[in-house]
Amino acid sequence: MASTADPRATELVSLSPVDSRPVAAFPVDDEDTVRRKVVRAREAASWWRTIGYDGRRTRLLEWRRVMALRLPEVLDLLQRENGKVRADAVIEMTAALTHVGWSARNARRVLSRRRVASGLLMLNHLATVEYRPYGVIGVIGPWNYPVHTPIGSIAYALAAGNAVVFKPSEYTPAIGRWLVDTFDEAVPGRSVFQLTTGDGTTGAALCASGVDKIAFTGSGATGARVLAACAPSLTPVLLELGGKDALVVAADADIPAAVEAALWGGCSNAGQSCAGIERVYVADPVYEEFLTLLAQRAGEVQGGTDFGPITMPGQLDVIRRHIEDALARGGRAVVGGPESVVPPYMTGPVILADVPEESAAVREETFGPVLVVNRVADAAEGAERANASDYGLGAAVFARRGAGELADRMNAGMVSINDVLSFPAVPALPFGGRGRSGFGRIHGADGLREFTVPTARTRKLFDVPLAASTYARGARDMARLERIITWMYSR
Ligand code: NAD
Repeated sequence: MASTADPRATELVSLSPVDSRPVAAFPVDDEDTVRRKVVRAREAASWWRTIGYDGRRTRLLEWRRVMALRLPEVLDLLQRENGKVRADAVIEMTAALTHVGWSARNARRVLSRRRVASGLLMLNHLATVEYRPYGVIGVIGPWNYPVHTPIGSIAYALAAGNAVVFKPSEYTPAIGRWLVDTFDEAVPGRSVFQLTTGDGTTGAALCASGVDKIAFTGSGATGARVLAACAPSLTPVLLELGGKDALVVAADADIPAAVEAALWGGCSNAGQSCAGIERVYVADPVYEEFLTLLAQRAGEVQGGTDFGPITMPGQLDVIRRHIEDALARGGRAVVGGPESVVPPYMTGPVILADVPEESAAVREETFGPVLVVNRVADAAEGAERANASDYGLGAAVFARRGAGELADRMNAGMVSINDVLSFPAVPALPFGGRGRSGFGRIHGADGLREFTVPTARTRKLFDVPLAASTYARGARDMARLERIITWMYSR
């Protein structure tokens, strides 16, 4: 948590959501400071590029080694500055370290120059494509996964050959500092990966600083501001925004497994996951069984023990509003209710049933351990309702027969079958959404390419007796080309 109420403040202090005590103080970097860092990053980028894929791979794997050796420090910080319980912190670091390794090991294979088919009409040319780094990437991060989320941009951008200037959330600057410090230990004396701290003003300064691309993760409202700020300079933007992910449970699903998945998918990290489960649509024949078992299991999960406090105090008001609105519109609280909101915690999960689809708890991102469980006639109707959302980040389906077809119906960037939130842990898979969940991809080969400029090249190997694209051509050349394309494309 941070105190930056004064817009002219030159310092921000991050406060622990656990006890509101200060964790660390950081400068609020102004425009000049941010620009200077970007200039330094540009110089560093040319060295980083010259060491090639192998040089970067070695250094990124060394960074991962340093982070693994210093793991207890960051786990403590994730607990203290972000409020996670230890288990959530361990899960976050497991995924983050996996991605650093995958990006380092796969950059050469995915990005280096490769031959593509030239096609019959250009068979006298050798055609190749390579993916060149942009130069300097500005990464703006959120607080909810202050390591895993920005690493999805930082590690992939670095592996692709870019330098990075990283602005962590004002709620988690000390965790951002730790990331840059561990990198400095692995790659000393260079400014390939730098930190800039501050609130939204510093983020806006990074957008206008001359970086070659912005990778933004955060809320849709801020994402729109970032897009607007980058428009005048035509700076490309990657937007990883919010979600309202749904789980669809078919009548033949393994109900105990679906219940466990719904509960963990909705409550881990205190429900503060962009791709956390917030809505569950259960087929009528198994609805009562699902709800009864979910209520029983949710009653055994406790805030403060199984998940930590809500990191941003203001979010508790949003959570309370969503619960109250759902009840006012005729929904039922099966477990917990407005009384579960006891700052800084949610005392436990809140399970709401039969909530009208126009309710805020169905339409807007709640970002707390609250699950809406609604009855549908069958899984097909569940998919239809799941898709009737402005968001389209992730989704999950539980079914025995026809699970693949059900997954095909989901309008989301990522789908888990018979599990939840599996996709971010598979480094080769792209991560990102559609609609109001943003565009562009982190992770996997697409995530590496996201931080590059695809660069095409042709090399003429020999002359052919058909000089169509020179003024040395004759009428017979063009007539021959006419006959060739008619023959090729009319069959
Ligand atoms: P936020 O939008 O409030 O802030 C995100 C970052 O943007 C912070 O670093 C903030 O300082 C900065 N910022 C604020 N104003 C800015 C401006 N005008 N210009 C540039 N930067 C500015 O989001 P948050 O509360 O930190 O994060 C929670 C949100 O992030 C949720 O909506 C969540 O779903 C989303 N999220 C998405 C993903 C994903 O991969 N899709 C991952 C994690 C979180």
